[in-house]
Amino acid sequence: MDEVEPKDGADSRLPASNAAANIRPGHALPFVAPSSYLRPKTKPRTISMSEPTPMSPIDEEQIQGLKGLRDFLKKRTSYDVLPLSFRLIVLDNDLLIKKSLNILIQNGIVSAPLWDSQNSRFAGLLTSTDYINVIQYYCQFPNELDNVEKFRLSNLREIEKAIGVHTIETVSVHPSRPLFEACSRMLKSRARRIPLVDIDDETGRETVVSVITQYRILKFIAVNTEQHTSLLKKTIQEIRLGTYKNLATCKMTDSVLDVINLMVVHNISAVPVIDKNNTVLNVFEAVDVIPCIKGGAYDELKSTVGEALTKRPEDFQGIYTCTEGDRLESIFQTIRQSRVHRLVVVDDDHKLRGMLSLSDILKYVLFHGEEGDYFPPS
Ligand code: AMP
Repeated sequence: MDEVEPKDGADSRLPASNAAANIRPGHALPFVAPSSYLRPKTKPRTISMSEPTPMSPIDEEQIQGLKGLRDFLKKRTSYDVLPLSFRLIVLDNDLLIKKSLNILIQNGIVSAPLWDSQNSRFAGLLTSTDYINVIQYYCQFPNELDNVEKFRLSNLREIEKAIGVHTIETVSVHPSRPLFEACSRMLKSRARRIPLVDIDDETGRETVVSVITQYRILKFIAVNTEQHTSLLKKTIQEIRLGTYKNLATCKMTDSVLDVINLMVVHNISAVPVIDKNNTVLNVFEAVDVIPCIKGGAYDELKSTVGEALTKRPEDFQGIYTCTEGDRLESIFQTIRQSRVHRLVVVDDDHKLRGMLSLSDILKYVLFHGEEGDYFPPS
C-alpha cells in the first residue's frame, strides 16, 4: 500500500495536557492541574445495592460519542476512505525478496500487495513482518545466506514454515462493504492493514483496489466526525486504554536483532527505547527493520538500535506521546492534525508508563461496552 500521504499539520508532539502540578512556594498541596478543572466531576453519592448505578453526564456523552462513531463506520464504506487520487504499487510474487526491499525503500512505502501472475490472483500482502521472518530464518540457518539471497516473494510461506511461524491467511474485504466490517476483520486478525479486493465483472477474477491501514481509518474518523469525537471526554486512564504491564522496552545500545526478537515474542510492532531511568528516548518500529537489511546487509542487524534509528527517512514524523490524563478527544485531535502511528504514554517527567496503539483505540471505538461475538464471519 502506498503510504505516501499529504503532509499533515505541523505539530510534532502531543502536549501532555495534564501537566505536572509544580510545587511552587506559597502553594499548599494538593492542588489541581489545569485539566482537572475542565473535566466535569461526578457528585459523590451513596449508592444503594438495589438501585442501578446512575451514569454521570460524562459517561452518557462518551456513550453517545461512541454510538455516533459506530453509526458512521456502519454507513461509510472502505471506498470512502480512499483519497481521490492514489497510487498502488503491486509486486509480482516472482520478484526476489532483496529486490522488493529496494522497491519499497525507493518508493517510500512499507508494504505492498502481491500478485500471482501465473494464476492471475491476489497473493497476499507484503509487510515488515515478512522481512522480520526472513531475518529469523537467517538467524536460525546462518549458513544459508546464499539461499536467503535467492528467495523470492513466493517463498515467504515456506520461510514461515521453516521457522515455525503460524501462517495467517491475509484477510481482505470488498471495498463497498461497511467500514465497520473492514475494521472488525483487521482487529480479529491483528492485521494493521487490509487489502480491498473486488471481483472483475467480466473475468470473474480478483482485483486489488487498494489497501487501507488502521492509521488511515483513524485519520478518516478524526477528520470527519469531530462532532462525535469531541464527546469522548474520559481520560485514557479512566477507560483503561492501552497497555501498561509487561511492556517490552529496549536501550539504545541493544542490538537490532534483540529488539526484533522482542517484537516477535510479544507480537507487537514497536518497542520504546528508554534510558536507565526509564525516560523515553525514542521508539523502534517494525518498519525500521527495512533500511537495516537493504542490499542484503544482514550483518547490520548486529548493530545497535541507536545506529539503526539514524537510517530513518528524512521525512520521519517523530514519535508521539500522551499522558494517562489525556482524553480520547484530544488524542483524536492529534490524529487529525498529525501522522500518528502510536502514542507512548509517559508521565510528567517523560518516564515510560505505557503504550497506546491505534489498534487499542480502534478496538475501543468499535466494541467497548458491546457483548457477544463482535466479528463477522470471514
Ligand atoms: P500494535 O502491535 O502496536 O498494534 O499493538 C498490539 C498490542 O500490543 C496493543 O494492545 C498495544 O497496547 C500492545 N503493545 C504495543 N507496544 C507494546 C510494547 N512495547 N510492550 C507491550 N505491549 C505493547
